[in-house]
Amino acid sequence: MNTSRSMKNLIFATGNEHKVFEINNILPTDISLRSLNDIGYTDDIEETGDTMQENAFIKANTIFQLHKQPVFAEDSGLEITALDMAPGIYTARYAGPEKDHDKNIDKVLNNLEDKADRSAQFRAVIAYVDEHGAQYFEGIIKGKIGVQRQGTEGFGYDPIFIPEGYDDSFAILGDAVKNEISHRSRAFRKFVAYIK
Ligand code: IMP
Repeated sequence: MNTSRSMKNLIFATGNEHKVFEINNILPTDISLRSLNDIGYTDDIEETGDTMQENAFIKANTIFQLHKQPVFAEDSGLEITALDMAPGIYTARYAGPEKDHDKNIDKVLNNLEDKADRSAQFRAVIAYVDEHGAQYFEGIIKGKIGVQRQGTEGFGYDPIFIPEGYDDSFAILGDAVKNEISHRSRAFRKFVAYIK
């Protein structure tokens, strides 16, 4: 870990190493990022909010209260037009509390079987908490749900999400494209511009 004084130390309140990997790829080099694993926090933070903004705040604020250091958290989800924007805040546990990506994808594909409109979007909300309070940053990527899984890269719903302007899923397009256009990278760029 770099502890030089010019480095800005930030905690990313997530246990999802895929998210840490994606964010590290677009992080300025003068920011030293520590995840929940890095700070030895292993408890599950219960997401009891009604919105992504509330859930992101709950995660960031829980860790800020413990460490009193700048913390950000991200909450994200898939919103499908023909399903009244479900699964939304239930994206991770759409098919049950075990948060099984495969079962979640099956449930989406089944629910869309008879629907002509397959449009969808990913939304990410970042909550940043420091001694001055909370700030929020949002990113959205529009697209559609494919009729079947495509590709093996990424995580979660990547095999069935085809971003607008592309013919392939995120799981085929891979990290380079995802880092340019994803909901998370869009929210994160706004956040980085703010903390700079
Ligand atoms: P969270 O960790 O509570 O924010 O849950 C978000 C859920 O949304 C994840 O578990 C994934 O299933 C899904 N998700 C969020 N971002 C992505 C992404 O970039 N690709 C695929 N699935 C995603």
